[in-house]
Parts: sequence; structure tokens; C-alpha cells
Amino acid sequence: MTARQLARLTRVEDIADALPEGTCFSPELPAAELTAAVESVPAAYAPECLSTCELAFHCRTRSREAGAVTSLGRPVRAELGGLATVADVLAAARGETGDPADPAVAALRRAAALRAEALEAACR
Ligand code: SF4
Repeated sequence: MTARQLARLTRVEDIADALPEGTCFSPELPAAELTAAVESVPAAYAPECLSTCELAFHCRTRSREAGAVTSLGRPVRAELGGLATVADVLAAARGETGDPADPAVAALRRAAALRAEALEAACR
């Protein structure tokens, strides 16, 4: 699991390379420019951010808009492997996408099958 988590980390150099030329984060900038600069950096919001970062509400909104699973918490994110969005998770659970050999995908499909079985039994 540690190797998988480390493999997901993005290097600072890669983040800097992805920024538009001349991006600056000076608090002296006009609000719109500073907001655009902040939004040009990918973020991995988690509920834990609420107690540690001034950008938490901003990042939470962006995360929810993107359907990112990080907004469900880091432990959940860690269990989902390469599934980054709620849509990815649901598609994998329904068997529409995902590698069946991936333990996260297999667990989701098993959970979906158990849920369907339980619902069917409850409706009898
Ligand atoms: S709230 Fe802060 S720590 Fe969390 S993703 Fe945003 S910038 Fe990073």
C-alpha cells in the first residue's frame, strides 16, 4: 500500500512544470489573478484540510465539483487505488470499467453484488 501511495504522489518539479508561464502567488496580486494562480495548481482536498489549511473551503468546493474521492477522506482514497472520482467508483462497482484483477475493483463489485442480493431478499 505504501508503494501505491508513493506512486500517486506528484513531484514538485512536475507541478511547477505544469504551471502557466509567469504564474505568481504574491498576496499583492489582484484577487482574480491570485485566484487563477491558485486554481492552476491541482489539489487533493481531504476533510483533514479543514483543520490545517486556509484554502480548505476553496479546495473542498473544487473537489466536490470534480466528484473527487479525496473529499471522502484520505483512508477512503487510499483504499480505492486508481479510482479517483465517485463516477469511476460507481462505474467500477457496476462492472462497466476497471480491471477485475484490481483489489479495489474486485471489492467494489463484491460489495455491489452483496447489496443487490440483500435488496432482492428484502423484496421477497
Ligand atoms: S486545502 Fe490546503 S492542503 Fe488541502 S488540498 Fe487545498 S491547498 Fe492542499
